[in-house]
Amino acid sequence: MTHNFNAGPSILPKEVFEQASQAILNFNNTGLSILEIGHRTTLFQPVLDEAISLVKELMQLDSDHEVLFLHGGATTQFFQVPMNLLDDGATAAYLDCGVWGSKPIKEAKLFGNVEVVASSKDKNYTYIPKEFTIPSNASYFHYTTNNTIEGTQMHFVPETNVPLVADMSSDVLSHVMDFNRFALIYAGAQKNIGAAGVNMVVVNKNRLGKVKRQMPSMMDYRKHIENGSMLNTPPVFAIYVCMLTLRWLKEQGGVPAIEKINDQKAELLYKTLDSLPVFKPTVNKEDRSKMNVVFVMDDPGQEKAFLELCKKEGMVGVKGHRSVGGFRVSLYNALPLSSVQALTELMNHFALKHA
Ligand SMILES: *Cc1c(COP(=O)(O)O)cnc(C)c1O
Repeated sequence: MTHNFNAGPSILPKEVFEQASQAILNFNNTGLSILEIGHRTTLFQPVLDEAISLVKELMQLDSDHEVLFLHGGATTQFFQVPMNLLDDGATAAYLDCGVWGSKPIKEAKLFGNVEVVASSKDKNYTYIPKEFTIPSNASYFHYTTNNTIEGTQMHFVPETNVPLVADMSSDVLSHVMDFNRFALIYAGAQKNIGAAGVNMVVVNKNRLGKVKRQMPSMMDYRKHIENGSMLNTPPVFAIYVCMLTLRWLKEQGGVPAIEKINDQKAELLYKTLDSLPVFKPTVNKEDRSKMNVVFVMDDPGQEKAFLELCKKEGMVGVKGHRSVGGFRVSLYNALPLSSVQALTELMNHFALKHA
């Protein structure tokens, strides 16, 4: 029995793996593999259409919001966002709350002025700043909803009239929120919605077309909207895996239902960590992430032994990110509660033996 706590690419539902494998061999009983059919065919178009309509349904999007599936990972959005939304000489506001939050700041500076409204770098990104002012003339305010590496999460949406842009790569569709409040949302698929190789972008089309610069077609969100995410060959298989995962999420009862299970998983793991002095969570309690749980050991000398034990028991992906050390346990949508139960049992057992 393997328990997969990988941070990304990460666990997906078993049904998705089965259906995706079947589609590689024989897609919808066509005798063809999903890997060998044209993207502009009546075979593939319904896959893309269903993926888009599932996103709209699960996120309850209004008609101003368009859904795109693009190449290049979330990292491409770090520069595609300012290219489309930040005019030369204008200012965008950014919140710097982690390794992933700091990278888009660097990229945005290539296109206009950037004002960093707050940063938690002073304490190794172990908390979320709450007191910050977003300048009212900013073209947009960008933040990362969940800091995958450090294990913090924004449990609020900032109050502002400035258009909101968010990198939701590691917590999109994990809990209920008003997605229509955002001018633009992007997420690399490989954490909560599918296979690596595709990005989901949700954009309010009324916010586009306001910058003066020329840009390559592949970078222009409006061109992608006009062409229904088919400006060129889309990442066909990655989109197919997203569609299967979104279908699975809908079958679970959608976002409200998965949120309940995600809450149970996070609560059990943090409760266990708090009750065992050998383990030490690293971030500010109220900013704890429900998707990525980061902790170290009171005695770092014991970390190797615990890691070995995890390995022996089939617990995969618990080693911390190289920049933080210790452990990181990811609790994405597809991870069952039973995996967290198995891990917490192991932690209790370890603590008893090593107290
Ligand atoms: C993983 C991650 C990224 C990077 O995604 P790529 O698809 O590898 O470019 C960006 N932001 C966050 C929050 C992430 O977790």
